[in-house]
Amino acid sequence: MSLEIGSMRNGEAVLNSSLPRQDEVGMAEQWARVRARLQAEVGDVEYRTWLKQLAFAGLAGDEVTVMLPTRFLRDWVNKEYGELISVFWQAENPAVKRVEFRTGSPARAPSLAEPAAPALVAPAATAPMPARPEQPAAALDQRFTFETFVVGKPNEFAYACARRVAEAPATAGFNPLFLYGGVGLGKTHLMHAIAWELSTRSRAGAPVSVAYMSAEKFMYRFINALRSQSTLEFKNELRSVDVLMIDDLQFLIGKDNTQEEFFHTFNALVEAGKQIVISADKSPSDLSGLEDRLRTRLGCGMVADLHATTFELRISILEAKAQRAGVEVPTKVLEFLARKITTNNRELEGALNRLIAHANLFDRSLTMETAHEVLHDLLKAHDRKVSIQEIQKRVCEHYNIRVAEMSSARRARNIARPRQIAMYLAKQLTSKSLPDIGRHFGDRDHTTVMHAVSRVTELIAQDAAFAEDVELLRRMLES
Ligand code: ADP
Ligand code: MG
Repeated sequence: MSLEIGSMRNGEAVLNSSLPRQDEVGMAEQWARVRARLQAEVGDVEYRTWLKQLAFAGLAGDEVTVMLPTRFLRDWVNKEYGELISVFWQAENPAVKRVEFRTGSPARAPSLAEPAAPALVAPAATAPMPARPEQPAAALDQRFTFETFVVGKPNEFAYACARRVAEAPATAGFNPLFLYGGVGLGKTHLMHAIAWELSTRSRAGAPVSVAYMSAEKFMYRFINALRSQSTLEFKNELRSVDVLMIDDLQFLIGKDNTQEEFFHTFNALVEAGKQIVISADKSPSDLSGLEDRLRTRLGCGMVADLHATTFELRISILEAKAQRAGVEVPTKVLEFLARKITTNNRELEGALNRLIAHANLFDRSLTMETAHEVLHDLLKAHDRKVSIQEIQKRVCEHYNIRVAEMSSARRARNIARPRQIAMYLAKQLTSKSLPDIGRHFGDRDHTTVMHAVSRVTELIAQDAAFAEDVELLRRMLES
């Protein structure tokens, strides 16, 4: 942030009150439009929280002064929105080159002679950043190819769609391709894989130009283009590609101007028979806050869901990564990881990498002990604590009995059996001692709990349907 006290040309400062009538009206109108655009861009909530009190104080030379009532607000708004505000001002009035943020209310503004608190110049306003040409390949991760993507039930459909688009971009029915799913399930991986595949084909003959960027980057570039008055170049550049890929589209929610720009780019490309690939954390219909017409268009092609991973897929991913790293990891350790880290492939991979690094560093083979030791902190975070109360509640729901029966003295089979199952699960899923568990079940003796555990273990071995029931309960409680 530059500190430009000298740039406050005190004498020259022309404020609202002393503007010629015509200009005053003009500036007020410009300011109203800047505000409206700000509000549209950041959304009502943010606008009301931070920007509502922003007041226009005047124009001096190429510098606009705006005011906020407190120093905190001034600094915050300058830091968070300074760039946006100056971009919008410039778009309204090309003569404006800087925006100055000051404390005070506009009524007191004319006292510019007072040695104001160091005048903060919106950093963005000083020099427009040169628009950097985007190298699609520069943004791509070399490891994210189709070859390294492990296919399983949860992602086979998304994978097949991605393959299809990479082989034949802009095929009817696959445009746009909309990939969605939770964090770490492989959206970015698949998008990069498409881009790599296309660039390989490009080199082999038919040239295909691909632009891949996150929605955040899209917005950043769009705002930069506005600032340096090169929106036309920006538009032309984007509209000249054969394949446009935008990652994490949910970022555009609430950024109305950027969304608008994206919508037009989107339409222009689709009309020209170009391929669009989008990723987001939710399906088009669940992305609330997105403009309806955009949402509709996004759902027009192929929508493919990356589902939560399964144990089998996690094992396959771990096996593939261990193999590529050239490291022997015992099956037991892989299973341990796949059982413990269930939400996110990125974390799964991170855990494996940590194990491998540790083994290499200390030249030790990978055992369960090392796994426990190295991943102690990570596993602790994933060890969801299940309480005995939760277990009782679930079991009672499952067998349709009242929770009070867990502590009652009734011995009827339809009550006693679920009670035993709950005790068994409490032993398996919590670290409570047998006497402790007994206390939660109407002050029963620890031998009763012991008996319940061995009885349920027996039944699991004898009766497949019973075993399945208990397994189902366990999974519900662990998820
Ligand atoms: P997202 O973009 O959906 O948040 P990423 O594509 O960034 O997730 O994936 C997170 C990490 O997990 C990456 O390192 C990626 O390579 C890996 N990953 C995800 N899914 C798979 C898969 N099916 N096979 C191999 N690696 C995967
Ligand atoms: Mg991603």
